[in-house]
Amino acid sequence: MLSEHAEEVLEALAVQMEEQGRRPLDLGVSRDDPAIEELIKLGFIRRDADHIHLLDKGKTEAHAALRRHRLAERLMVDVLDIKKQIINEASCKFEHLLHEGLEDNVCTILGHPKVCPHGKLIPPGRCCQEKAKKGQMKFVSALSELEVKDRGEIAYLHTKDSSQMQKLMSIGILPGMSASLLQKFPSYVLQLGQSQFAIDKELASCIYVRLVRA
Ligand SMILES: [Zn+2]
Ligand SMILES: [Zn+2]
Repeated sequence: MLSEHAEEVLEALAVQMEEQGRRPLDLGVSRDDPAIEELIKLGFIRRDADHIHLLDKGKTEAHAALRRHRLAERLMVDVLDIKKQIINEASCKFEHLLHEGLEDNVCTILGHPKVCPHGKLIPPGRCCQEKAKKGQMKFVSALSELEVKDRGEIAYLHTKDSSQMQKLMSIGILPGMSASLLQKFPSYVLQLGQSQFAIDKELASCIYVRLVRA
């Protein structure tokens, strides 16, 4: 199995390449770091005279590692309520506990989040495509996936679309507000504090709610 250190080096390479568009890749560690040998042996990276190349097998592994890392962050913020400033360090340790296929369970509990608390994309897993099963335990869920009468508090809002964000702002919805779902059809009707709002499914899928058990 990949060592923790080599996994971190691999993650950093994928982030540089895919999210920052940086070329050539900067190793971030010295060239004779044992992690490099390890990654080469596993067929994750290739080294030529002056560059490091991330190979497909390494990309797949890096996506899985980033997924665990960012899910661990979401878990700490959404469920364990750990402050953003300290999650980076803690989630590095924590992501290693998410090995062994636990990440899909955590993803489900968190309502299949699309971004980490820093707004970085979480690579989707198999669970994110599957249809939600009834009775699955959840702590956080998109409003669009809730059942009527479910209630909780707004955990966070997520949309990349500025017109959607404007609609959310015009409703005055903010993290921490209490909310419940009154109706799902023909539109989603949301009780927010003393007011009620009808919204469409698309907007409902931008609102993540931390559920309160009845
Ligand atoms: Zn993050
Ligand atoms: Zn998922």
